[in-house]
Amino acid sequence: MEAYFDNNATTRMDERVLETMLPFFKDVFANPSSLHRKGQEANVHMEKSREKICEILGIEPLELVFTASGTESNNLAIRGAVKAYKKRGNHIITSRIEHPAVLTTIKELEKEGYEVSYIDVDTNGTLDIEQLKKEIRETTILVSIMHANNETGVIQPIAEIGKIVKEKGIIFHVDAVQTVGKLEVKPKEMGVDLLTFSGHKFYGPKGVGALFIKMGTRLTKVLTGGHQERKRRPGTHNVPGIVGMAKALELCEMERKEDYKREKELRDYFEEEMLKRVPEIVLNGKEADRLPGTSSVTFKYLEGESILLRLDFKGIAVSSGSACSSDDLKASHVLLAMEIPIEFAHGTIRFSLGKYNTKEEVDYALEVIPPVIEGLRNMSPLWNEFINK
Ligand SMILES: *Cc1c(COP(=O)(O)O)cnc(C)c1O
Repeated sequence: MEAYFDNNATTRMDERVLETMLPFFKDVFANPSSLHRKGQEANVHMEKSREKICEILGIEPLELVFTASGTESNNLAIRGAVKAYKKRGNHIITSRIEHPAVLTTIKELEKEGYEVSYIDVDTNGTLDIEQLKKEIRETTILVSIMHANNETGVIQPIAEIGKIVKEKGIIFHVDAVQTVGKLEVKPKEMGVDLLTFSGHKFYGPKGVGALFIKMGTRLTKVLTGGHQERKRRPGTHNVPGIVGMAKALELCEMERKEDYKREKELRDYFEEEMLKRVPEIVLNGKEADRLPGTSSVTFKYLEGESILLRLDFKGIAVSSGSACSSDDLKASHVLLAMEIPIEFAHGTIRFSLGKYNTKEEVDYALEVIPPVIEGLRNMSPLWNEFINK
């Protein structure tokens, strides 16, 4: 049996999305910026896709820019905003638990001379809003806070933060890569100026993302080139990707409530059974508002990588720490920010369920995991020290 529990890293594309995309690799292949009929035909489909996405998010077509990924959208939002508002100040506020696409971008800007405040989270992974309020200065030009965390699934109170940030007239960016398609996301109702999302996290294609840019928000471009996307993001449009992303979002929107319920039931069942079957584990962020399918489990006294490899051998795909950092063996910055001791952070596995996961797969995992953990712990000096205490 095989079970893919790594849906926060990427999802399997929906068949209906693939079907929708195919003509745009073949017949409708022209460049949508070309003035001939073939180009204009592609352009019409692209703009229909833009309208579809905007309708779901409650925004205007002029407020959406297509990019090549969530990473690129985050770069465009953050670099573009701080450059455009440079005269106003040089201070940026973000959290300690952001995705590397935000965190490393802001770290680069810090090297270039911007000042940065990193806001803490509590042990459940929720942002310290009082600290955020205190950190706001005259020179603050950008606040960037993620909607849901990719490692723990913990959701931040974006509307509440948006209210505070907008009262001060500061630009508010939200990395919503983990929530668009899964939750109802309406940037304008949450006081957000810039919002990032990415097709492959919600059963759409890889290599296509978007950035919501609220009307009136200034943004300096990051890439230089042609005039596409109203000069905000040059480069020939990925028409199949854009059409696919719109279809994927439309399907998610239609099926969102049922998918949410099913995923949450499966995840909750998984966690309840894990607590019964495996001793000395911690479910990270369990008390917080969380995504329905994410379960971050700390197996005390073990290394996450060894668990990951054993589960992989049994056909179960999971990730340790965040997928993006699973090749460097540093402990997750997200778990450390939640004050999980470093030795326990190392023993953490993320199970991220999606709409294609079944009860059978979860039961299979529940059968496989306890003996894997027991076997590894029997070889673990830390575990033996613990039980002989
Ligand atoms: C996956 C992810 C990204 C990066 O998106 P890509 O499209 O893979 O570049 C950014 N932020 C979060 C929260 C993510 O989960």
